[in-house]
Amino acid sequence: MNIKQALTEGIEKLNRFKISTCVLDAQVILSFVLGKDRLFLLTNPLYNITNEQHQHYSSLIMRRADDEPVAYIIGEKEFMGLKFNVDKSTLIPRPDTEVLVETTLNFCSSGTDVLELGTGSGVIAICLAHYGKFLQVDALDINTDAIKMAQKNADANNVVVNFLHGDVFDFIPDKDYDIIVSNPPYIPTHIIDTLAPTVKNYEPHLALNGGADGLDFYRLIAERGSSWLKPKGKIVLEIGYDQLNSVTELFSSNDYNVICTNKDINDISRVIAVSHSH
Ligand code: GLN
Repeated sequence: MNIKQALTEGIEKLNRFKISTCVLDAQVILSFVLGKDRLFLLTNPLYNITNEQHQHYSSLIMRRADDEPVAYIIGEKEFMGLKFNVDKSTLIPRPDTEVLVETTLNFCSSGTDVLELGTGSGVIAICLAHYGKFLQVDALDINTDAIKMAQKNADANNVVVNFLHGDVFDFIPDKDYDIIVSNPPYIPTHIIDTLAPTVKNYEPHLALNGGADGLDFYRLIAERGSSWLKPKGKIVLEIGYDQLNSVTELFSSNDYNVICTNKDINDISRVIAVSHSH
């Protein structure tokens, strides 16, 4: 079997299972199996693949047909130009989250200490450490498997992040921070069942579930955040597509001022930055 035949076979199978990104997904999966980039596939349609490679490819195509995200199948995802290992212990980074990182980088100056709450695979903290000049980046997560993955990602990207294991709900830091950044779980519990199968059947609900109204983590951060911050410290948060008003309200009623809000590539308010008034 050659590359062209394998791609046609994979695309047809994914198409039958209603995977709308069938062409790209088949290419990415075959690239992964062969250890060649997509350009090689497109320029060498007659290159023969071994039986073993074909079997491996077919088994991965079946996983995708069963809605497993490509990033989990190949074990990696690119974010802000860096490569990250991902597995089912953490969410797959979304392009929307680049706005959160960019907003936080705007507040970076030398001597700034930053804390990320709920780091997952570590992408936010690692991008901040890579692209910014912070004094130190600390990052907390409740899940030990996530912390292991995040540490592996920091090492692979040659940056130093101080990972902390713990629950944000009983977190007592041993220092105060200039900036707290978070993409917390923000999906209302009853909505999780309505998400795409790729998300609800594979990504960790622990990282998605924001409680009955989706706002549990914002409420906690609004109430306790000031005790983890230096005077006039800042908090930068990713929010759900319809949460700008409710999150603004939560922080305003806890003595914060809104510094800015930023939209994602789909023109949806995705990030809010606030500072404590004293
Ligand atoms: N953006 C994610 C989604 O829509 C949710 C991430 C989160 O809860 N922080 O699936």
